[in-house]
Formats: sequence, structure tokens, C-alpha cells
Amino acid sequence: MRIVSLAIDSVDSLHGGCTTHFSTILLETLRDFIELIDLPLIVRLNPGIPWKTRGNAAVVLRFYYDGSISKLLEHVYSMALEYSNRKDLGIAVIEGRPEDIKLRDLYLKALTRVVPLDVAISILEASGGLWAGGRGLIGAISALSALTREDDYTFELIAYRKPENWGVNRCIDTRILIEIESTLPPITLNNIDYTIVEETVAPKGLDPVLAGFRGNCLKSLVKYAKTICEPQDIWAFFRTNQHTDAHAIPLTGELRPYNTGVIEVKVKDNPIYIAGGHVIVEGESREGGVDLAFYRETGPLNEVARLLTKGDEVRALGTIKPYKPRHNPVLAVEKIWILRIAEKSIEVNPRCPICGERMESLGRDKGFRCRNCGYKSRDLKKISIRIDRRIKPGEYTVQEGRLKHLTKPRWRKKQAKIFKQIKIKVDQVINHKNPPNTHSIDIEC
Ligand SMILES: [Zn+2]
Repeated sequence: MRIVSLAIDSVDSLHGGCTTHFSTILLETLRDFIELIDLPLIVRLNPGIPWKTRGNAAVVLRFYYDGSISKLLEHVYSMALEYSNRKDLGIAVIEGRPEDIKLRDLYLKALTRVVPLDVAISILEASGGLWAGGRGLIGAISALSALTREDDYTFELIAYRKPENWGVNRCIDTRILIEIESTLPPITLNNIDYTIVEETVAPKGLDPVLAGFRGNCLKSLVKYAKTICEPQDIWAFFRTNQHTDAHAIPLTGELRPYNTGVIEVKVKDNPIYIAGGHVIVEGESREGGVDLAFYRETGPLNEVARLLTKGDEVRALGTIKPYKPRHNPVLAVEKIWILRIAEKSIEVNPRCPICGERMESLGRDKGFRCRNCGYKSRDLKKISIRIDRRIKPGEYTVQEGRLKHLTKPRWRKKQAKIFKQIKIKVDQVINHKNPPNTHSIDIEC
């Protein structure tokens, strides 16, 4: 049997639906013809691309398959068209292990840059792949080589809604959610902050997703099924690059709009506060001057930015914006690592050696006089007082529940083990009514 990788992207529609949901319907039709060698993959790409579809996620399926590749493509494409009615969706299929160097380079590029459609298609064709669709192919082809080799990964357990409930308020029992979380190590993602639980675990709108639970350990995620208090249509397991900082690749060369990555910066001046509560920190990097923008919505990140000062050294992760109000490129920051904190001091007049009062200056090089007792001296000098900086070196992110899909939370540890190929049936990754049973899947956690 040969290995086939199939990638799909932009299969959603104005009437609801999303690529991950479509992949579960597709899997049901492939049930008798394939054997999976991995969980279905959710692959997130450059979060800075403005024209992406919701969340910029592609889904990749890797499996053993003996049939005709072109017939498979035809089947998936016609199903996807019917599901989404979008001509610009993308379906890409390739035989063999998807570790082709050029596809791998394309994946890394798509995490951080803007990839043109023709570039993606020519790389796929050079690798012997087949495709159908339009713009969505950028994401689909770029995702083919994701989560290979030693890539860090997380899991996501998604519950989908019955179609009759799409668009109505979701039922997630926050009390049970809190209870379950208190018994588990911090492994779930995007459902930690109870105050905004509604918008993170359970996205609003005409969306088939009821809830997505993310974390390092699939077996723990299953425990969250109890938090759902409405009928579920289908459950699915995914392996993902979410919350791994996969996009934290150094920004080099010209800092162009929509490029994403990390850059080391030395702070040039005190932060500038602009209308709306946003903070700009001017910095100097190896690629030239850059303004770090910390928007108000970034919460704790915005607060820590206010404490930065000239001479501090930071590494910032973010996306270059398409505007340059102060001539420097602007990096919208989603995470910083404070590497070194500069000493900050202020100069003050000395105290009177006779009575202890603060003295006044008689002018430059003219010495000081005590207003209290009249003592004068030309020999006394201003003294320097070190200011407590109130910040410490370390990693700072936005509020837990507002992390972008790719951003690694501070507490999350990289997976200790490389993911090994597995052999599983479709029914082991999707299931109606309840989450699939993890016991039959050969993964450690
Ligand atoms: Zn005095």
C-alpha cells in the first residue's frame, strides 16, 4: 500500500461550515478505502495574512491508499464544492512521505511570509502532486509538509453541532469545565480564562464547531466531553501545530508587510502612548529601526511594554503591519521575551550633611545650598539613585484566552517525544455522540 497525503483548505461557506468539519464528513466517505497513518492534522499558517479564511487553517490527512490518486482528487473536490460552493477552495494530493525539501521550505515560508499561488502550485507539481481549486491551494499545498520530522505538536478534540443548532447559543457548562480543569495538569488551551470562555472555546456565529479542546495530552482532552450540554453531531481528534510557536522564525532582510516572526530589538527610548491605549516602543534591530506596537487588546503585554525603557533588550514575536506612521516598519507584537533589562537611574540633589534636608542647586558647577540651615558647599555632587525597574527578564504573552492559534502559552512544554507514525482506522478518530476511544490509539498521552 502506498502513503498518500491529502490537504484541504478554504472549504467553508457563508452559510456556515469549516474546513475541519468538512474533513470529518470526507473521512466518513473514505472509511472503507483508507487506513490513516496519523491523526487528521490541523495546520495553522501565517496569522498575519489579512485575506486568509477564518483562522487560516488547512487540514491534512495522511493514509495508506491503493486506489487512483486522480479519482480521489475528483471525489474530494466535488464533495468540497458541494459543501462550500467556493471555487477558490484548495485540494492538493501527493504520493509518498510528504517530507520533500521544497515542500518543507514552503511550509516554513507559509508560516511567516506571503506565498504566491503560482509558487505553491509549481512546487507541488515538481513534487509530483495533483491539485484542484484556487486560492485555497496556497494553504493546502503549504500544509502538506507540516508536522513532520521533529515538529512540536498539540492535540485538539473538536465537537461539532447538529446542523439545526448552528447559529444558536452554545451550551457549555462552565461550572463543570472549572471542575475538570482543577483536576488536571495545565494541558488544555484556550479554555483557561473563564471570563471569556464563550468566545474562545465556543466561537460564535454560523459555525459547526461546538467546542475545541486543545492540549498536549489527547487522553486528558477527552475528559472535557462532559462540559457540553447540547447534543453533538460528531467528535474528531486532530493533531496540530497550534500553540507551538511554529511561526517564531527569525525575521530577516527587509521587514515587509504581513511577514511574521521573531526579531531581537534594543529599545531606543521610553514607550510612546497613543490614542486608544496602545503603546509603541521604538527599537533598533539588525534589520534596522522597527516600532514595536502593543495594542490595548494585548492586555498584559501592553502593560509590560509600558515598563520598557531605553537600553532594554527584547525578542519580539509578531507581524509587520502594512503602515509606517513613523517611518519605521511596525511589528504588531503577540509575545515578547525580555532578555536584558537596562539599569535606570535618576540624578537628585544631595542631602545637607548638617541637617539632612534635600539641598538646592546654585546652578551648574556652583554647588548646593541648604534652605533649612543655610549650609553651602561647592564640593557636593548630584547623586544617582537606581530606579526599581518593576519588570523581570522572561516571556510575556497576551491573556491566556486570547492567544493566537500558533502562539505557545508560557506554561506549555514542548512535547518530549517525536510523534511516531501510527496505523489507525477512520472510526478511531471520528465518532458520533461521544469522543472516539483513545485506548485503541497507540499514543502515549
Ligand atoms: Zn541643612
